[in-house]
Amino acid sequence: MKLARLNSVPEIFYSVQGEGISQGSPTVFLRLAGCNLACSWCDTAYSWKRQEAEEMAPSEIHRAILNIVSSESPADAPCRHIVITGGEPLLQQQELIELLALLDGWRVEIETNGTQPPSPALTARVDQWNVSPKLSHAGNRSIRALVPETLAAFAATGNAWFKFVIAHESDWEEIRQTAETAGIPRSRILLMPMATTRAELSAARAQVIDLCLQHNVRYSDRLHIAVWDSKQGV
Ligand code: SF4
Repeated sequence: MKLARLNSVPEIFYSVQGEGISQGSPTVFLRLAGCNLACSWCDTAYSWKRQEAEEMAPSEIHRAILNIVSSESPADAPCRHIVITGGEPLLQQQELIELLALLDGWRVEIETNGTQPPSPALTARVDQWNVSPKLSHAGNRSIRALVPETLAAFAATGNAWFKFVIAHESDWEEIRQTAETAGIPRSRILLMPMATTRAELSAARAQVIDLCLQHNVRYSDRLHIAVWDSKQGV
């Protein structure tokens, strides 16, 4: 299984979920390497480099996760919540299924760009999909970045949330069309400011909240940026 490395270390760490519907939950993060898109504003572009990735067997990753849990989360209430992110985690579905079989009883969230259809075996083990479809401002070819039938497959799982990054108020029209085509209910949409620094987040927050109110969709903050600014691996 290929993991992203930050400062030469595979990215497995304990923190709080910074975005989306379970924001604030204590969580073990696992960042996988490789992505099929190349968003112009990607804040984890280092994770694309599969040749620089750390190759680890699912059993080794499982041991690393348990070590982090026992050293950083409380013994009387050990963390049992994992967020798998990337890169694009669904490029490694078979390996993910093997890893998740070792994490029996854990709550599992997967962050995905929504372009790779999830297999039934993986779907059966995932509690929450955090799907972040990439709008045209990310600079990918739209035929690769917005795949209506795949987004519809995530919507059909009943446990997917769709988190859109907002650069401009006019992004709403692309979101509305995408949601309509893929059958994404408005109650499952979250809007989140485009930001990689605390200053950018502060400047964009009010406008995105206003857009959420106009269209009756949820707002997602970016807690890790609000707290740690542009620091990586937290
Ligand atoms: S899909 Fe995510 S990881 Fe891939 S390039 Fe875009 S923002 Fe980066």
